[in-house]
Amino acid sequence: MTCEPTSTPDIDLPRLREKYRQQADKRRRPEGFAQYREVTEDLEEFLEFEPYEPLPARAPLADETDVVVLGGGFAGLIAAGRLKAAGVGSIRIIDRSGDFGGVWYWNRYPGVQCDVESYTYLPLLEELGYMPKDRYSYGSEIFAYCQQMGRHFDLYKHALFGTIVKSIRWDESLQRWRIGTNQGDDVRARYIVMAPGPLNRPKLPGVPGIERFKGHSFHTTRWDYDYTGGAWTSPELTKLAGKKLAIIGTGATAVQCVPHLAKYAEHLTVFQRTPSYIDDRGNRPTDAAWAERQKPGWQAARMRNFHIAINEVFDKNDTDLICDGWSELNRNIQAARKAAGWPELTFEQLMALREVEDYRAMERIRQRVDTIVQDPATAEILKPWYRFLCKRPCFNDDYLPTFNRPNVTLVDVADEKGITGITEGGIIANGREYEVDCIIYASGFETTTDLRRRYGIDIVEGRNGLSLYDHWSDGFRTLHGMAVHNFPGMFFTGYLQGGVSGSITQMYDQQGSHIAHIVAAAIARNAATVEPSHEAEAAWVDTIRANLMYDTSFWEGCTPGYNNNEGLETKRYTIFGEPYGPGFHAFDDLLRQWRAAGDFAGLVFTPPGPAPTNSGE
Ligand code: NDP
Repeated sequence: MTCEPTSTPDIDLPRLREKYRQQADKRRRPEGFAQYREVTEDLEEFLEFEPYEPLPARAPLADETDVVVLGGGFAGLIAAGRLKAAGVGSIRIIDRSGDFGGVWYWNRYPGVQCDVESYTYLPLLEELGYMPKDRYSYGSEIFAYCQQMGRHFDLYKHALFGTIVKSIRWDESLQRWRIGTNQGDDVRARYIVMAPGPLNRPKLPGVPGIERFKGHSFHTTRWDYDYTGGAWTSPELTKLAGKKLAIIGTGATAVQCVPHLAKYAEHLTVFQRTPSYIDDRGNRPTDAAWAERQKPGWQAARMRNFHIAINEVFDKNDTDLICDGWSELNRNIQAARKAAGWPELTFEQLMALREVEDYRAMERIRQRVDTIVQDPATAEILKPWYRFLCKRPCFNDDYLPTFNRPNVTLVDVADEKGITGITEGGIIANGREYEVDCIIYASGFETTTDLRRRYGIDIVEGRNGLSLYDHWSDGFRTLHGMAVHNFPGMFFTGYLQGGVSGSITQMYDQQGSHIAHIVAAAIARNAATVEPSHEAEAAWVDTIRANLMYDTSFWEGCTPGYNNNEGLETKRYTIFGEPYGPGFHAFDDLLRQWRAAGDFAGLVFTPPGPAPTNSGE
């Protein structure tokens, strides 16, 4: 079935550009990320880092393993799986939660679902022989899939759950990493893979009074079903009857849980600073006949297609396999070029076309609000005035209709750049107090704040006590975004200085596979350590900075958020770290060639053992 372009309205580009600028300006705060409050010990009720199911008490460990993987979400699971496949036997995953899953372990709020098509988001589907139940999977299925990965790669045996890493230090005398935890463990490892994920620590608005509130409050990532009633897989929040609730934030999380809250609460007040892009969901069970037809390699092809749909441009011969809101813009650009007879376009012309199609698609989204929300003033507040992908797009059939309910109030806090305080009885916004029984913070995560806050580990020290945070105080310094000079055998996953894929799990697989290749080689050589030379690291930083993929004008024009350093200086700082300019697949080719050369260029093995006989691919 072909995927048709959407019909989008005409626009007045100069007028809209100005409107977008005004809307971004009014939300921009000079303190940037400092506006948020870190969830530290003094805010224990928000921490709730106790796993959902109590774990048996255990004695502190003092043992040794080849590899510690820090984090049991998709990044850690994939890296550990790839290490196992490369023959590395001794792997310990450490995670503060009670099981594998990462965000999909913790986030059990009502309605939790992945907005990205499951066939591209859930990794290694063909390898595990799994087909998702629905086009867009619910959180409980994704969590179960993570458990399946844990079993598939036999990772449960040595996992340390309910364990918070407090310090990571390189011990020169032992030539090992020493990992200290809240359980009193002293785990030694030759290699460490950092896989904390971008949504691992909740953050709160930095407003006064949070501790003073006498009612109940919690963050969405630690949903309190004892208070709301219902359960993760059956969100009947019956205990909310008679309760006045407030929710702060209208990002992807709030969009999914707001309809459930509104259904059960006596009253729900939604505090919105920036409206989300909301399109329809279009979920459906996986078609068994379609699944049957998929040929080996189908998932990689689909991931590639999804990546192109978001990050690149569809060519004349590309077919939009995803065919949802994520790929709409590219689909429409392709249709416009086809209608014009595929003229040769310069990069600037292509970007100009993209801008027009972007504004038209967003206008469609704004007009859609008017067709659903009955009160024109409320509809106006819910319209997003920014370009596609400035904020995470959301897809939900129940969110906008919720604002037609008599028990729901939307409070626009954009003019004051957010709520301004919490009292004993409720929330202060726009100069007045809103009294409520319960405040739910849907205020997001430490996604792109300071690295120490994101990791939540105070001490990460390489050779000679060098702090990782100091080493990176002027920006990342890595080889290929994964290895760092003076941090022997420490490897990184996530957005640093590598290829950025539209599908985060595809990026994790690229990184996990590459790290596994290096670790397996180091073990085969019986090397004591492996790390990039200073020169190799510096050369890669130069390569990255000479080829940066930033579309600065795009990000600077965006409404503030974690994607663009809260709308401040964005040249070196977006959610994607410092992406390799030529793109994800070019980076993949570069890594493949590097591995195939077999000389591990830029890495230093100490002591240098004999080269493995099967180096390269
Ligand atoms: P976000 O960071 O996206 O949203 C936080 C919300 O809190 C924003 O609406 C923000 O407003 C608001 N906020 C922060 N401070 C204040 C303040 N002082 N006053 C009023 N409002 C405030 O967090 P989410 O948990 O919604 O989502 C995080 C990420 O998790 C997503 O981007 C996505 O990557 C992922 N996710 C994916 C899902 C999926 O696939 N379906 C579902 C849920 C989450 P403002 O925008 O103005 O800053």
